[in-house]
Amino acid sequence: MSRVEGVLFDIDGVLVTSWQPVPGAVAALEEIRRRGVPRAFLTNTTSRTCDEIAASLKAVGFDIRSGEIVTAARLTTEYLRSTYPGARVLLLNRGDVRADMPDVVFDDADPEVVVLGGAGPEFTHAALSRVLDLMVAGVPVVAMHRSAMWAESDGLRADVGTYLPGLEEASGSRIVSVGKPSLAGFLAAAELTGSDPAATVMVGDDFRGDVLPAQRVGMTGVLVRTGKFREPVLELAVDRPDHLVDSVADLPELLASLG
Ligand SMILES: [Mg+2]
Repeated sequence: MSRVEGVLFDIDGVLVTSWQPVPGAVAALEEIRRRGVPRAFLTNTTSRTCDEIAASLKAVGFDIRSGEIVTAARLTTEYLRSTYPGARVLLLNRGDVRADMPDVVFDDADPEVVVLGGAGPEFTHAALSRVLDLMVAGVPVVAMHRSAMWAESDGLRADVGTYLPGLEEASGSRIVSVGKPSLAGFLAAAELTGSDPAATVMVGDDFRGDVLPAQRVGMTGVLVRTGKFREPVLELAVDRPDHLVDSVADLPELLASLG
């Protein structure tokens, strides 16, 4: 690439793990800001609103504004607006992100669309069985994303992506997913930085969720060895990341080498 016009960052596993900074991440972001490179943050975090994410990052030293963050909830809201305008929505999600879903009509009793956010204690047997009943009755299901897991400081957590194939198999219908790895979010985030995808770098800890889809839309992918990075996932893959670094702390040097 000739010149880096913008950088997109995944948040969880790249900048923070369990909301504590990855070593060197705060300094790396400051250095990139000092160089005047536009950036945006593309996250499948569905447990917090954009304001809450910005506040959590600020509390540990990052200077990131709510408006720079593109969440799966925001992308899903756009999707509902264009595809099911005004529909009554049953939301199953860990945490409350309804503040980032303006104009969405929530109705648990008589939904026309089911939205699945991130998995957590809300994903009970009873709740998933109800979703299955609704699917079989023809109610469309939209997943905020298809992430299979996230990493916390004491281990991995199964996410919504581990449930979707089972629901699809049992109901015989497909579930549309909106956040990463679907491509629309990457383009929306690049638009926020004003950068051409071909001159945009995407940094993530999930090879299939962050890096490969970014490379598919023409961006330069950077995989970090922090967060949910697992060497065997990369070894089993046919595709390769454009760049592999130990952590986001190495990004300023890499960007300088890219021009
Ligand atoms: Mg991540």
